[in-house]
Amino acid sequence: MAIKLPIYFDNHATTQVDPRVVEAMVPYFTDKYGNAASRNHEYGWKAEEAVENARGQIAKLINATPKEIVFTSGATESTNLAIKGVAEMYREKGNHIITQVTEHKATLDTCKRLEKNGYEVTYLAVHKDGRISLDELRKAITPKTILISIMYANNEIGVVQPVAEIGKIAKEKGVFFHVDGVQAVGKIPVDVQKDGIDLMSISAHKIYGPKGVGALYVRRKNPRVQLAAQIDGGGHERGMRSGTLNVPGIVGLGKACELCGQEMAAESEKLFKLRERLRESIMSRLDETFINGSMEHRLPHNINISFAYVEGESLLMGINDIAVSSGSACTSATLEPSYVLKALGVGEDLAHTSIRFGLGRFNTEEEVDYVADRVVETVSRLRELSPLYEMAKEGVDVSKMKWQVAAE
Ligand SMILES: *Cc1c(COP(=O)(O)O)cnc(C)c1O
Repeated sequence: MAIKLPIYFDNHATTQVDPRVVEAMVPYFTDKYGNAASRNHEYGWKAEEAVENARGQIAKLINATPKEIVFTSGATESTNLAIKGVAEMYREKGNHIITQVTEHKATLDTCKRLEKNGYEVTYLAVHKDGRISLDELRKAITPKTILISIMYANNEIGVVQPVAEIGKIAKEKGVFFHVDGVQAVGKIPVDVQKDGIDLMSISAHKIYGPKGVGALYVRRKNPRVQLAAQIDGGGHERGMRSGTLNVPGIVGLGKACELCGQEMAAESEKLFKLRERLRESIMSRLDETFINGSMEHRLPHNINISFAYVEGESLLMGINDIAVSSGSACTSATLEPSYVLKALGVGEDLAHTSIRFGLGRFNTEEEVDYVADRVVETVSRLRELSPLYEMAKEGVDVSKMKWQVAAE
């Protein structure tokens, strides 16, 4: 089969909606278009039934109960609701929150907002492998701590945090534990009981479902978590999140969770093999390449590699028939390297030449081979033009070189 270009290797950013998910959603646009809150007729009942079915499908995937699932517009909203909802509800108990530096902006920016409103936030550092220290976490907890928010797996480097151990510490200390589960749920086993999770954010579009729909898991016993609503009006979702439910989206999220539950084991094995094939194919042919983040504690479908002695932008240009992300976030004015890689201690140059390969359900071995060849060709070609690479090969310690910038 001919390879379709560009090849999509950016599955941490979003995923293709699985055709089986689309199929499940369609009737809720066409004939079953009722409002799930309409109690007086068949259209409403059908919609409500579909929503409750989806609640069950999501709960099953994470070992929760259906009543513990609150629907939202996505994980950004879920995380806002979890953190702000706990902060507001338990303000009397304390004003201290603990998170860590490589969280998604949904968590970091929410915490920043709370800092402006009189809360105190501890941002734990990470080791070179991208994981937090449990000791540092323990030491950071004070009598004022009300919430720990740590992601399950990172969206750039795929590093998996020691979630079950964190859950244990949180329970010991009587502190709520929120997890950004976006990159882990549906990809690796996540169990809110075993992992001691009290709140967890989930997004449909990262698990082959539609964009603009997500869920927040909210524990109902041992302990019961209460949340101050952040959106008022109508009292949907037991008052925690008002607004007419996105019934087709919710049906899609439910179906996506069901499929992940059924196929996760086989799929993660397949993607792990593809990922290893990609890694070996690239790294056996190129020297001076570095993996960012732990290999041991890592999502099976992620690899993040920095290529020394090339220029980030030229590298991306050279592989523009492949959809990947890089550690250079080209914002309008500045060219800031990824804060995640920075937190691992990756230098600016290597951060700029890092590439995140995110494999997914629809990728094939042919695509992996094509991508590996393109990357190797491009990096080799760029290095041929690089005097620095040449010098390094001749044994000059390039890192100790002094630079003189010519005046314009
Ligand atoms: C994508 C992502 C989010 C945001 O999810 P949305 O549903 O797009 O709002 C949050 N956290 C992580 C780790 C993500 O990868």
